[in-house]
Amino acid sequence: MEIPSRIVKQSGRLRPAPNLLDHAATCASFSWESAAAGLAGLPGGGLNMACEAVERHLAEGRGDKVALRWLGKSGQRSEFSYAELSAHCHRFANALGQLGVQPGERVFLLLGRLPELCFALLGGLMARCVVSPLFSAFGPEPIATRCELGDARVLVTTPELYRRKVRGLRARLPGLRHVILVGAADPELLSDPGVQGWSELVDTASADHAIGPTDPEDMALLHFTSGTTGRPKGAVHVHGAVLAHSVTGRYALDLHADDVFWCTADPGWITGTSYGVLAPLCNGVTSVVVEAEFDAQTWYGVLESEQVSVWYTAPTAIRMMMKLGLEALQGRDLSALRFMASVGEPLNPEAVVWGLRAFGLPFHDNWWQTETGGIMIANYAAMDIKPGSMGKPLPGITAAIVRRQQGGGIELIEQSDIDGELALKTPWPSMLRGYLNEEERYRKCFVDGWYLSGDLARHDAEGYYWFVGRADDVIKSAGHLIGPFEVESALMEHPAVAEVGVIGKPDPTLGELVKAFVVLKPGFEPSEALMRELLGHGRSRLGAAVAPKEIAFRSNLPRTRSGKIMRRLLKARELGLPEGDLSTLESDEQK
Ligand code: ATP
Ligand code: MG
Repeated sequence: MEIPSRIVKQSGRLRPAPNLLDHAATCASFSWESAAAGLAGLPGGGLNMACEAVERHLAEGRGDKVALRWLGKSGQRSEFSYAELSAHCHRFANALGQLGVQPGERVFLLLGRLPELCFALLGGLMARCVVSPLFSAFGPEPIATRCELGDARVLVTTPELYRRKVRGLRARLPGLRHVILVGAADPELLSDPGVQGWSELVDTASADHAIGPTDPEDMALLHFTSGTTGRPKGAVHVHGAVLAHSVTGRYALDLHADDVFWCTADPGWITGTSYGVLAPLCNGVTSVVVEAEFDAQTWYGVLESEQVSVWYTAPTAIRMMMKLGLEALQGRDLSALRFMASVGEPLNPEAVVWGLRAFGLPFHDNWWQTETGGIMIANYAAMDIKPGSMGKPLPGITAAIVRRQQGGGIELIEQSDIDGELALKTPWPSMLRGYLNEEERYRKCFVDGWYLSGDLARHDAEGYYWFVGRADDVIKSAGHLIGPFEVESALMEHPAVAEVGVIGKPDPTLGELVKAFVVLKPGFEPSEALMRELLGHGRSRLGAAVAPKEIAFRSNLPRTRSGKIMRRLLKARELGLPEGDLSTLESDEQK
C-alpha cells in the first residue's frame, strides 16, 4: 500500500468547527489556570473528579441527556442519563459510608465492563475514596499483589470472579474488610466475612448524598502500569487531573456535546478510566460501554448500530481488523463516524492509511502513559497527519527531546531529527504524584523540572513528534541506534505481514543484531522463500545496517492484556533468560 508522507485535512467528514483549529495560537494563549475556570468546582470550593464528570451536568440542566449506553455481552442494552448515573453513584457513595469506609481508603474494582463498574468508580470518587480499577482477567496472584500494595479496603467484583480468584486470597488480605458482589450471588458466598450483594447494599441505599470537601491534590485514582517493560508500578493520580481529562478530551479527541463516543479500552488500564469514563462525561457526551471483548464483526456492529461518531481504540485492535481485510466491513453504514484515534503502542503508518481505505478516515495516533494521566501528544482533528508521527504536544504541554548527562542533569536537544528521550515540562494537572511505595523510583523520573518518560523519540522541523522506541527496547547494532518501531513498520508494509515484534539479539561482531518475529496474514505460510523475501524487503526499505538479519515466524506474539507487544519477553525467550513479571501477559501460547 502506498504510504503518503502527509494526509492533508480538507473537509471530508471533519466537523464544521473542529476543536483546536489553530494549534499555535491556542498554545500561545493557553494556561491551565485559565482553563480551570471552565470547571464547575464543588459548591463550597475544592474539586472532585466525579462532580466534574457527572454533577455539573445536572446543575447545568443536562440531567436528562444520555451519559452511558451499555451494551451487554448477550445483547442487553441499557441507557443511563446523567441524572440516573448520578443517583447510582451517590447510592454507592452512601453504601461505602454505611460500611464505615473513610475518605482516602482504597476501593478496588475487579469486574468486567458493567454499568456498576462506572457507578463504583465515580461513586467511590464521590465518597473521596481512592479507586483502583483492575483488569477482570487478572489471575489471583496479580490481584493479590496489587491489593496488598494498594491496601485495598473494599473490593467490588462479581460472584464468579470472587469464587474463582479472590476467595482463596482473603487470608492474605486482612485489610480487605468489604467485598461487594455485583449480580446474583448464592448465600454461601454471602456468608464469607464482609461479603455483601450490590443489590441489597447499594441499590437500597439512599441517593441523597453530598460530595464532601475535596482538595484538588487529594489522591483519587491508583492505576497500575501495563507491565510491558517490567513489574507494574502503581501510579498515584489526584482529583485535579480532571482538568486534563476535560481539556484533552476536547482538544485531542475533538469531543463535542452531540457526539456518541466509544473508547474500547478496559478501565483496568488508565485509558479506560481517563477516556472510557472521565473525559467523555466531563465533555457531556454519550459514552458507549461495550462489555464484549474484541471481535471485528461485533465492533463494526457497535459502530453502526450506535452511530458512533468518535472512536478511540488501540493499534493491536487495528492490526487485527487489518488482518481480516476490508471484506469484513462490507455493507456497513458507518457514516456517523467522523474521528478515529489510537493509543497504547506505536501506530504503524500502514495502519493510519488502512483507516482511510476502510473507513474513509485516518486513525489519529496519540501518545501518553499511565504516569501522564492523560493525552500529551496528539494528532488532533484539524491537523494534517504525517503517518507514523504521534502528532504535536497539546496546549498546556511542553515536550522536548533530551539527553541525559553523566552528572545526572539533562541537555535539551533543540535540533530536529535527533533521537533522544521524550521529556515533559512539569507540572501539568494529571501528572502522577507518586509511584505507590516507590519514592526513589518516582524521584528519578524528574530532572531539572522535566519528567523523563523512558521513551525515545525525535521531533521534526514542523514540531511533529516521532516515536523511536522505549529506551529499554532500543537496539544498538554496529554503532547504530535502531528503534524497533521503524523496523516493524517497514516489515508491516509487506503484504504477507500481519504483525511484527523486533528485538536486539547479542552478537559478537555487531553488538546486537536486529531480529524480527513475524506473524503472517491468513493465506500465507512460513517458508524459506518468504523469509528471504522479507529479509530483502527489509534491506531495500531500511538499508543493510538497520534491516533485520534474522526473521522467525510465529503464530502470535506475547502481549499484555492491554494489547502491547512484550518485546522484553520475545528477547528473554530468545536468549533463555528469566521471563520476569508475567502478571499482565495475555496469552502464553508462543513459548
Ligand atoms: P510499564 O511501564 O509497566 O512497562 P507500559 O509503559 O506499557 O508498561 P502504559 O503506561 O500503559 O504502560 O503505556 C505507556 C507506554 O506505551 C508509553 O511509554 C509508550 O512506550 C507506549 N505508547 C503509548 N502510546 C503510544 C504511541 N502513540 N506511540 C508509541 N508508543 C506509545
Ligand atoms: Mg511505562
